[in-house]
Amino acid sequence: MAVEEHPSVCTFDCPDTCSLSVTVDDGRIVKVRGSDAAPFTDRVICNKVAQDMGAFVHGPQRLLHPLRRIGPKGSGQFESISWDAALDEIHDRVQAVIRRWGPQAVTPLNYAGPHGFLAGDSMSMRFFNRLGASQMYRRSLCGGVRSEAWAGTYGAVPGCPPEFAKNAKLNVLWGNNATVANLHIVRAVRRAKRKGGRLVVIDPFRTKIAQQADLHVQLLPGTDTLLAWALATELERAGAFDRAFIAAHVLGAEDFMARAREWPAARAAEACGVPEQQIMTLVGWLAEADPLVLAPGNGLERGRHGGSGIRAAITLPALLGKMGKGSGIALGAGNSFPKTIAKLQRSDLMPAGTRTLNLIEVGRHLVSDDIDPPLRALFIYNHNPIVVHPDQNRMRRGLAREDVFAVGIEVAMTESMAHCDILLPAATHFEYADLYPAYGHQWLQRAEPVIAPLGESLPNTEIFRRLAARFGFTEACFSATDAELMDEAIDPADRRLHGVRPSCIPTDRAVQMTGPDEQPMVLFENVFPATPSGKIELVSESLATRWGAAARMAGWLERHSEYPLMLISPASDKRISSTLGGLPASQRTPVLRMHPRDAAARGLPANTDVRVWNELGEVNLPLEVTDAVPPGVVASEKGTWLSTSRTGQTISALVSADMRADLAEGACFNDTRVEVGRA
Ligand code: SF4
Repeated sequence: MAVEEHPSVCTFDCPDTCSLSVTVDDGRIVKVRGSDAAPFTDRVICNKVAQDMGAFVHGPQRLLHPLRRIGPKGSGQFESISWDAALDEIHDRVQAVIRRWGPQAVTPLNYAGPHGFLAGDSMSMRFFNRLGASQMYRRSLCGGVRSEAWAGTYGAVPGCPPEFAKNAKLNVLWGNNATVANLHIVRAVRRAKRKGGRLVVIDPFRTKIAQQADLHVQLLPGTDTLLAWALATELERAGAFDRAFIAAHVLGAEDFMARAREWPAARAAEACGVPEQQIMTLVGWLAEADPLVLAPGNGLERGRHGGSGIRAAITLPALLGKMGKGSGIALGAGNSFPKTIAKLQRSDLMPAGTRTLNLIEVGRHLVSDDIDPPLRALFIYNHNPIVVHPDQNRMRRGLAREDVFAVGIEVAMTESMAHCDILLPAATHFEYADLYPAYGHQWLQRAEPVIAPLGESLPNTEIFRRLAARFGFTEACFSATDAELMDEAIDPADRRLHGVRPSCIPTDRAVQMTGPDEQPMVLFENVFPATPSGKIELVSESLATRWGAAARMAGWLERHSEYPLMLISPASDKRISSTLGGLPASQRTPVLRMHPRDAAARGLPANTDVRVWNELGEVNLPLEVTDAVPPGVVASEKGTWLSTSRTGQTISALVSADMRADLAEGACFNDTRVEVGRA
């Protein structure tokens, strides 16, 4: 067979959603490069996708046949069975659960492994809605805090396109480990720097992008609100506010400033652990920069003050009136697409009164049966809960219950899959067609399969079609083709599609979402706040209604813990969260980074193994002594699989699943306290 080149799209949980060009030789993927189909990603992709896709698709970890568990949960002992036998057993076991406990004892336990509309949640949710299974609120695990903060302040609208970064006089990357988790904004920032623009990185960890910054504000984790308040206070004092813009477009500015003024630079500097002069330097740069682009990442949302931190940070461009005309906040890109999710997932099939569970509480529900009906059947797909959930040990105990029937649908054998009763082999995104929005840019893409599904694997859509048929669901929506699903994911009649059906978007050319003027969507140019008041809401009654009275405004509470060190968990350049974690490139135990002062105080030599512990668990990691983290803070990369650990626990074991962010009931990965000692 000849060597062929095919267009494709990267589906991983990453804001960039790169367009790809895939080389296939005799049915094997031999090369993956970036393509120019999506102009924002323009032929550049990350190393992990450039190097690891052959192993991801064709490696020994790949699931190729339906499997039935024959050993204890977690042992990894399975036997091959036919698709018919697998579907029969799933049907019989789930029906037994429904007869005993009702349909809400069944739940999807899924997240965002692949990001296409179809593989993400399309036919799957039709199946669960029709079944009457418990619904799952997933945004609490990641991203929900940031999107609630954004939507509460500006509405569900796009901010500025990330392309704005390349012309900014000042780019501020706040809690954004961009080199590994938002690659293309790095390219734009570098272009801006070549033209004389400045880069400021605000992050407790000296990331690669922080090393390239003109100013790295290395604040203590969770103190973002205080830093933003101090910046607002000093900007006001410097006369930098755009009073006309505030009067016309901002609601609650005076209430916001009343809290902010309690934290002038001198006071905030001490609490944030940064020099006061750094704050004042940033004040000067923010005041003079035009255009100004702020690109917040996910890092600052993962703590008790996560929502407040983001709300306070994204207030600054509003107070300066730097919105539009090249300035803005690179957030909310996912709102630029005319999504029709209810139609895609057929939420009308869901019985009235169906409960919704919080994803990060599933471990507790499983271990303690604290809900009625208890959970007795799980479908785990697009997700690796043992590795990525907080309180890993509790989640593992929950998944180890022999009286909970678990179906796993996955590309690879993971430690979570090893706890399932029946495994169904899923196709990779190179083996099915899908439609791709992005959450980091405004380009809509479509891909066709570049190879046939390996072994007996199937696309998620077909797996749930077969499940629906086996459960006797005869409604027409369960026989919808993938093309029909695409046309139900995005409104084909929307102006932004220019008359092209979503299922017919060319695979070699992304479609840019535009405003009514056919220009890229830019907040305060062709898009305006979609809050209840139509203004930028620094005081939000809608957030208070959804998340409690304290969410009305950004706030701050002191924190106390018996453990002295703050543990943060930045992203790795080898994985996308836990995805790719089973590949050879990801098998090393990650280091624990600790400041020399903290290491000396504990008598810990560099390059030895140390114990990291708190009341939830204990992890052994090699120690790297470095000032890449400030005193009082330790850091270790998230997403490693348990196989890399001598204690069989990774740092997710140290993260509380009961602590909540101040919005979206979000998980608090970066608000973890630990102690470290000799192993
Ligand atoms: S993981 Fe992100 S940067 Fe890497 S190829 Fe995929 S979308 Fe692009």
